[in-house]
Amino acid sequence: MSDALADRIRTDIVSIARLCYQNNYIVGIDGNVSARLPDGSILITASGICKGFMDETQIVHLDSEGRPKEGGAAKASSELQMHLTAYRERKDVNAVVHAHPPHAVAFSIAGVSLAQCVIPEIVTTIGSIPTTPYATPGTDELPRSIRDAIGRSDALILERHGTLTIGTDLLDAFRKLEQIEHTAKITAIARQLGQVKTLTPSEIDRLLDVRKKLGLQGMNTLLCGKCAVQDICTIKDKVAEELKGHPVYGEQSRARARTEPRTIMRHVGERASRFGRAEQDGGSDGNE
Ligand SMILES: [Zn+2]
Repeated sequence: MSDALADRIRTDIVSIARLCYQNNYIVGIDGNVSARLPDGSILITASGICKGFMDETQIVHLDSEGRPKEGGAAKASSELQMHLTAYRERKDVNAVVHAHPPHAVAFSIAGVSLAQCVIPEIVTTIGSIPTTPYATPGTDELPRSIRDAIGRSDALILERHGTLTIGTDLLDAFRKLEQIEHTAKITAIARQLGQVKTLTPSEIDRLLDVRKKLGLQGMNTLLCGKCAVQDICTIKDKVAEELKGHPVYGEQSRARARTEPRTIMRHVGERASRFGRAEQDGGSDGNE
């Protein structure tokens, strides 16, 4: 692996970290950004630094298990294990961005899910935005809490804490962070103005057709058939049929299609009823 590539990725990490800070997705020493290099090693922001004013010397180089590769006093981010879990679970991604965007976090504190299908661009790209259960930041609970969901989604809200987005590269992961916070802002405004109306199954169908026509790649929780909010977002037989043989979605979709009814959205199940109740009541009784 060339040093030039590692240096370019270091510069990209600094740029994305600054963007997170400038866009108020993080404040103070919040958040962390990492990238996986072609040799499997990891570059990650150092612990305890303000990402808005960091430079390339404040990035730690680790092997794939998180052990330091090069000398240096800097300590890796306290959320390193969460990043390592994401890389272990998803061989197809090379970048992880963890931030604390205020609107998205506020929705999780209010117990209102953003996993509903309301914004066409979300349906066609990442599918939906699941929320993982609360886990104490900086502890082993956090990587455990995301292990299952990150295998099925590129864009997670971590309850009461922040977001975790992954991508083929740093910009891809950052773009998904933007999508989450933008969705949260739009939904917050819509809730102030009136009722949030979800897209109908036939509208979602058309959007998934658009996705197919555009040849959009990447994980989509509506298509994977094992959505972290699978009780809300299930899969249609037609979609499962189209995905037969797909390297990521194929087997999952076939398994799902054998057991699931023909609707894309069904507001049933533990998590759905919890968030569904909060939605209907304006979020007033969203607590478990
Ligand atoms: Zn955090």
